[in-house]
Amino acid sequence: MIQIKDVTKLYPAKEGSPTSRGGSEKRGSPGNGDAIRALDHISLHVQPGEWLSIMGPSGSGKSSLVNLIGCLDRPTIGEIWLDGQNVAGISASELNRVRAEKIGFIFQQFHLIPFLTAVENVMLAQYFHSMTDEKEATEALTRVGLGDRAHHLPSQLSGGEQQRVCIARALINDPKIILADEPTGNLDAVNEELVLRLLREFHQQGRTIVMVTHDPVVARLADRRIEFHHGKIASQEVFAMADDEQFDEVLEELWVLGEHGEIAEVERMEVHGALPVSLAIEKMMAMGLVISAPHPPEAHDHRPFINPCHDALKPVSASVGDGTLVVELTPRGRDRAGSIIRRHRLAERLFTDSLAMDSESEIEQQACKFEHILSPEATDKICAFLGHPRTCPHGAPIPPGACCGGEQRFENLSQRLERAESGRRYTRDEMNERR
Ligand code: ADP
Ligand code: MG
Repeated sequence: MIQIKDVTKLYPAKEGSPTSRGGSEKRGSPGNGDAIRALDHISLHVQPGEWLSIMGPSGSGKSSLVNLIGCLDRPTIGEIWLDGQNVAGISASELNRVRAEKIGFIFQQFHLIPFLTAVENVMLAQYFHSMTDEKEATEALTRVGLGDRAHHLPSQLSGGEQQRVCIARALINDPKIILADEPTGNLDAVNEELVLRLLREFHQQGRTIVMVTHDPVVARLADRRIEFHHGKIASQEVFAMADDEQFDEVLEELWVLGEHGEIAEVERMEVHGALPVSLAIEKMMAMGLVISAPHPPEAHDHRPFINPCHDALKPVSASVGDGTLVVELTPRGRDRAGSIIRRHRLAERLFTDSLAMDSESEIEQQACKFEHILSPEATDKICAFLGHPRTCPHGAPIPPGACCGGEQRFENLSQRLERAESGRRYTRDEMNERR
């Protein structure tokens, strides 16, 4: 979608000031040697639908790159391919066209026209793209929660509201690429949350997002993070893999809660991983692994039980049925959760029975690693090797695999699950007894 090939961007040095940056350009000397090297041989590929976040100290070149991708400026050297077109060498009017058609901008400084109302600011973007349509512009404002503020001037709106006008403006022409330069930099927590929620929606709709941010937590929402230093990419980190493991942990937790007939309340779940649980759950909903439901109205107690895999739940507490979010596995989520649980519990069996490991914490640690990496073939081989065991060393059922064969196994499992769901619980004492 976006391909940056060996791009360098030089700016002429400011009048009377020595260049603030290193590089091959000499400080204080006149002419071309005085240029500021904002981007220094950058190459970068952003996949369609990818969300990339860019971090780095002030002056490291982040905005320069965003402006180049956004066709607001041209590189000194190098190529920039957007959606199959090299925009590095095209004319100013062609740049304007590409920008209007492909790009939506969200800036920290909003850049709204002060003497136009919210809806007129959105319509201006329509005008540059094709033709204005007030109804559509008003609908866009309604989608960002500003339907009743359409005829206010920017000065009559809060920072958060202005940023939402920008988002409506950025989206009005249905761009494939969203460029956000510190989109939450000037916002309070409530508006930050709103803006990030909208960005997540765009991501789910399959748009490509490039976002500059100073906030590591915000950066973590992306699929990948790169870090700029002195106009170069100093490091990069891909999050998708780590997210996947966290999703596994959540699925595992949901499975075990289900085994014990417990409702999965998002607020009570503490699952290791970089994402807040509520955000992990949102991503998993988008992937079709879980669905959410409001909490049932009846207040109920949480019974103590032990999750043999992780002590991930908050301590026992009574919870009120006050509308907290509850999640359930979809059939797909249930499949994936069952396989994770199966790998984990088979690994526990292997370590305990065959390898005679006796440190409970070591067994858990290893099983937690194996649950993510065992292939289906390896899992079935271990299962066969162990004689298709029905329970883990703690007595919790092992979901049968294809290798276990026969409907008998499945019946047994579902019977066991039914029993579990009708109130069977493993308390800590019971677990110890079984050992
Ligand atoms: P960041 O967004 O990471 O803070 P920028 O891309 O805005 O960094 O700036 C990179 C360097 O280029 C800085 O030294 C900055 O002063 C310089 N720079 C940016 N834009 C211009 C410009 N239009 N004219 C001259 N220098 C510029
Ligand atoms: Mg900047």
